[in-house]
Amino acid sequence: MTDFSDRVDRIAISGIREVFEAAGGDAINLGIGQPDFPTPEHVRGAAVDAIESGATDGYTSNAGIDGLCEAISEKHARDNAFDVGPDQVIATAGGSEALHLAMEAHVSAGEEVIFPDPGFVAYDALTHLAGGVPNPIELREDLTMSPAAVEEAITDDTAAFVVNSPANPTGAVQSEEDMREFARIADEHDVLCIADEVYEHIVFDGNHYSPMDFAESDNVVVVNACSKAYSMTGWRLGWVAGSDRRIDRMLRVHQYVQACASAPAQYAAEAALSGPQDRVHEMVDAFEERRDVLLDGLADAGLDTPTPQGAFYAMPEAPDGWVDECLDRGVVVVPGEAFGDGGDGYARISYAAGIEDLKDALEIMNDAASAVR
Ligand code: PLP
Repeated sequence: MTDFSDRVDRIAISGIREVFEAAGGDAINLGIGQPDFPTPEHVRGAAVDAIESGATDGYTSNAGIDGLCEAISEKHARDNAFDVGPDQVIATAGGSEALHLAMEAHVSAGEEVIFPDPGFVAYDALTHLAGGVPNPIELREDLTMSPAAVEEAITDDTAAFVVNSPANPTGAVQSEEDMREFARIADEHDVLCIADEVYEHIVFDGNHYSPMDFAESDNVVVVNACSKAYSMTGWRLGWVAGSDRRIDRMLRVHQYVQACASAPAQYAAEAALSGPQDRVHEMVDAFEERRDVLLDGLADAGLDTPTPQGAFYAMPEAPDGWVDECLDRGVVVVPGEAFGDGGDGYARISYAAGIEDLKDALEIMNDAASAVR
């Protein structure tokens, strides 16, 4: 008998956490992946009302309260070019649990999962936890994922590929044409596409498209969350959407690992999804302004940065020693390797920080770049 499962022994604590722990208390933190805005008042109010009325005292149904499942279904009808019924969604503990359900339900031991490298840290870890084999693929120069590269990486053992747009850690947004291709690949190769759309609303140039907009089969499941769009990372509320048979399998997992998403968070999410959306637009405008300030500052520092078109991250090329130099001088950025081997030589900067902090940080990042050259 071994002390620990080999699945868990294959995963480690995220490199992002290590950076936080190394940073001093008054460092400017551009390492954190969460909006710096408060959760909208009407959303908080909905949770308070639900708590005070006693509606949140018990378990909810496994998939979620009716009002939330309907609000998710209506959200997709409003914002996307696909329809999912209220019974084709599961409310989860954030996008993280939604990704976990998608992997657990679809990946068998030894099967491969293709995902972007650099990519969100959970893809590799959740593949291992499902007993699968990670197949990270290199990105194009503009840091988007090439459908041709995904198609080439598919083997008889591939269970799934992950498409993340807008992407963490790159801020890259996949084009409509790419999304059509991902849908075709999922259809033709009979492989599942896990579409991670948690940054869906944070797009500056162009529009957000989903592979589910174009797929003819049911080989796409969509992962989404209130975390980023409504500044609700602490509420832990996301969802997964898919066909009846896929929801049935994912619900089996959810029922035993979670029972149901937190009831107060479900009421809050219903209000977020079905209420006014103006706060989302205000936040996106603020992120766009910060992105432009950041890109100008990084250009002044001589750091090449593919223009991020969404989310709130930029990924400049980082000279050797630059990340540590920034950290020593009081600015936290995350080394690209934390997101996979493909991130080597890059750093991730989150601009979910106040514009004044961003400007101060840019001066320091500029000095740090001069110091290591
Ligand atoms: N997917 C991506 C690409 C993310 O960046 C994150 C969080 O940073 C998640 C999923 C998980 O989101 P949540 O906080 O809702 O669990």
